[in-house]
Amino acid sequence: MWEPTDRSYQEQGECTKKSNESLIEYFFSNEPEEKYAAKNLCFQCPVRRDCVKWALENKQIWGVWGGRDENEIRRALSVNADGDEIRRDRYPQCPYCTARTSKLQSHVVENPEGGRWTTMRLVECLDCGFVWRSRTSANAVNAYHAERADKTAKKLNRKPTKR
Ligand code: SF4
Ligand SMILES: [Zn+2]
Repeated sequence: MWEPTDRSYQEQGECTKKSNESLIEYFFSNEPEEKYAAKNLCFQCPVRRDCVKWALENKQIWGVWGGRDENEIRRALSVNADGDEIRRDRYPQCPYCTARTSKLQSHVVENPEGGRWTTMRLVECLDCGFVWRSRTSANAVNAYHAERADKTAKKLNRKPTKR
């Protein structure tokens, strides 16, 4: 379900082509228009999916990766600008297709290479199938579904009001 991504995908990236050299600085720009131009290039890139995945695995919380900027990457990982985990500051979205939390599911899987971390927590998007690893986001997804289930149960148990 989840395999680490090899950085070799970058050889096929649009941003590594000589013809797109002039756009490189836009990937780390704070100017909205330049950032938009960088993202636009990513959306034409054949390796966008691998790129988002690699950025998440390697906690790239600055710049544009796979059409997503630092805020979107941080949100998917549930971390702040220092890379520290933040609990339920904002519920995560799918970093590949931007599906909302209601479309996300969390999984706990074995982690044979993980040393003392014998399991890892993954988040899966039911809309596009994208899977990424984030313990905090997986917990946030669980909290979101638990809250929704709680609200639904309360609604069902509410006694009908007398007229
Ligand atoms: S998705 Fe964007 S950042 Fe990633 S390789 Fe392609 S153009 Fe470069
Ligand atoms: Zn998705």
